[in-house]
Amino acid sequence: MSEEPRKVVILGGGLTGISAALHLRQPWVLFEREAKLGGLAITEERDGFHFDLTGHWLHLRDPAIKQLVAEVLPVESRGEPAGRAGRAPSREGMGTLSGFPHQMVSVQRRARIFSHGVTTLYPFQANLYGLPPDVIKECLLGVIEAKLQTTGAEPRNFEEYCLRHFGAGISRHFMIPYNEKLWGVHPRTITADWCSRFVPLPNLEQVVAGAVGADAGRMGYNVSFLYPKQGGIETLTRALASRVQGGEVHLRSSVESLDLGRREVVVAGQRVPYRAVVATLPLPELLARISDLPDDIVAHAGRLRCTTLRYLNVATRSLPAADWHWVYVPEKHLPFYRVGIYSNAAASMAPPGAASLYVELADRGPVSDATLSDVAQGLATIGAISSPGDIRFADAREIKYAYVVFDEHYRAATTAIFRFLESHAIYSRGRYGGWTYNAMEDCLLAGREVAGSIEAVPGSKTS
Ligand SMILES: Cc1cc2nc3c(=O)[nH]c(=O)nc-3n(C[C@H](O)[C@H](O)[C@H](O)COP(=O)(O)OP(=O)(O)OC[C@H]3O[C@@H](n4cnc5c(N)ncnc54)[C@H](O)[C@@H]3O)c2cc1C
Repeated sequence: MSEEPRKVVILGGGLTGISAALHLRQPWVLFEREAKLGGLAITEERDGFHFDLTGHWLHLRDPAIKQLVAEVLPVESRGEPAGRAGRAPSREGMGTLSGFPHQMVSVQRRARIFSHGVTTLYPFQANLYGLPPDVIKECLLGVIEAKLQTTGAEPRNFEEYCLRHFGAGISRHFMIPYNEKLWGVHPRTITADWCSRFVPLPNLEQVVAGAVGADAGRMGYNVSFLYPKQGGIETLTRALASRVQGGEVHLRSSVESLDLGRREVVVAGQRVPYRAVVATLPLPELLARISDLPDDIVAHAGRLRCTTLRYLNVATRSLPAADWHWVYVPEKHLPFYRVGIYSNAAASMAPPGAASLYVELADRGPVSDATLSDVAQGLATIGAISSPGDIRFADAREIKYAYVVFDEHYRAATTAIFRFLESHAIYSRGRYGGWTYNAMEDCLLAGREVAGSIEAVPGSKTS
């Protein structure tokens, strides 16, 4: 009796796993631990309020991925629905769009910084205008000094990187405190490996223009973004998942272990032989499921670090005071580092006359009543809500694996681990499989890339 041909086994059905399934041209089977696909790209609903797992705004740069997304979720041709002012027409318009419930809107970013009691434009380093004069002076002198310094050793960590590129003032007033809140560790303990695409580097002319209120130009990878008109980011996940074919999806199926010798994964007690594995679950979780790891890989695995994120889904009773989509909050006295208003980007994210927000907390500990009260006060302070009493509910959530820490062990550990895994036909990809800092498009690209790598292995075709 001939054995069934080995398949490609995909572990995890977030965007990386879905993309791998979409791009593979040979049989695959996908095991997802949860009851639905999407991983971090899903949306919760409560009482008509919708919440992603904090802001999930889609930025696309790859032509083929743009085309794929446009095919599954065409962009609404009317362009951006405005924030508060645009709500009513946008809602009315939905009736006429009932034949096209799955649509994207293209939104011009409205990102802000709240510090020194004022709200300024993002990015901080190119928009000093509006800050107290002493702060502007300190930041400008610092950046001029930094730009004049043409020699010196390569920055060894992210703090040195900030001082080198932005100078002392911008580092002190934004870069260092904000990144410490975000990463949960001091910037001197992480490298700058992650930041080239995500941290805009203005030239001196742009910094000066932004300090005096002249146009410094729009900067950053996320000048505009796409977002589903309805249903939150999960609409994208569902639209992509509806396109997968040529394999099987098993939900509520957590991988228990991997047997490298026999090239089998064990799921719900069943042994499934594999030709190759696309692993998208967090790397430490994958490694913990492999019993026959060599000592050096075990040692490297022990050095992988990641921070947990606690955040709040906040529903309001009335429209928000602010019109921005998200705001960065560097100062320590406020308990959050970033706040976003989903319903300012897509009105359907909240019932009429109300708003849905996310609040990313600086503290990594359990969320207490005192935290909730500080947050409510803080949201009123930054102008996100009119008063603490405007909050209808606030639900605490946790993302266990949120930010991979790029410390001094990162490069050596990941290089050795990936080399080892690939020698056993295990391709670990995606934000936590690839143990990196990336965005949704990178995961769609990673799924495509890994499908191509597996197809390219000689003898990988089943037929
Ligand atoms: C706070 C935050 C904000 C973000 N904001 C943005 C943004 O604005 N824009 C943007 O583009 N990107 C954003 N991202 C990044 C984006 O969420 C990720 O790049 C992407 O969703 C990761 O997809 P993934 O498939 O690699 O991983 P995941 O989504 O984590 O998927 C992994 C899957 O593996 C499953 N799994 C885990 N263990 C097992 C097991 N034992 N067996 C089987 N399955 C298992 C999980 O349930 C999950 O479905 C943000 C990320 C975070 C943390």
